[in-house]
Amino acid sequence: MTMQYRLIPVAIAMSAILSAAPALGAGPNGRQPAQPVLSELDPGEVATLVFMREEERVARDVYLNMDALWQLLPFENIAASEQKHMDAIKGAMDKYGLADPSDPNDIGIYFDDALQQLYTDLIDLGDDSYIAALQVGALIEEVDIDDLEVAIAATDNADLQTIYGNLLRGSRNHLRAFVAEIERRGVVYVAQHLTQDAVDAIIDTPMERGGRADGKGAGSKRLGMAEGMADQASLTLGLDRLIARNGNGSGNGGGSKTRKGGGSGDCKA
Ligand code: ZN
Ligand code: ZN
Repeated sequence: MTMQYRLIPVAIAMSAILSAAPALGAGPNGRQPAQPVLSELDPGEVATLVFMREEERVARDVYLNMDALWQLLPFENIAASEQKHMDAIKGAMDKYGLADPSDPNDIGIYFDDALQQLYTDLIDLGDDSYIAALQVGALIEEVDIDDLEVAIAATDNADLQTIYGNLLRGSRNHLRAFVAEIERRGVVYVAQHLTQDAVDAIIDTPMERGGRADGKGAGSKRLGMAEGMADQASLTLGLDRLIARNGNGSGNGGGSKTRKGGGSGDCKA
């Protein structure tokens, strides 16, 4: 059983709220501005864009917390990268006249209830140990990858597809970084939200370059290239086990796969 953090559908429900809200504010002289720009996005695209801005912020905020707590790589670097992801989405929101639903400087406070809960859960899990914090990071990236893929599939807007595509590549790199740290400590990483095949396809391929906001450096789509990783029944380790210990849900830990040749790094747990 993989973690059931499926967040994007919440964004769709939000669209009604957002389209009713005066996101554009009043124009000069108090007149309502025309809305030609906004009309380029449908309500679902608007809701998803605003949602993704907050989801990237959850990542940044959790990593800032984990960095303060553990003061070990890679949280500081990845938090900085999430800030760039937030900025990229803000660029699109500005272009379409969309306001932030929450104060981006208010760390840990979100408009979206599901993201609020996610943040609370992850902070709680990540303070158990450094390895738990790394597992939290990997889970965030898996959820982000899932939501970005849904977002890309749900829009025909080229700008948004480019932005989401860049963020997706960044998220795959972040997942690779977290998993590398986890496995360096002798723990075999087990998928927490995506399928094991999807995770393996990412972590068995190298870091991807590119991701310029100007659209240069087209990303290589490496998904679906998993090989030899069949019938990895969704073993659950890490977070499911942690959550079970915290009394939320049933963990059935396990995981006996040895993908990599070991590596008995010092465990700081
Ligand atoms: Zn991100
Ligand atoms: Zn990330």
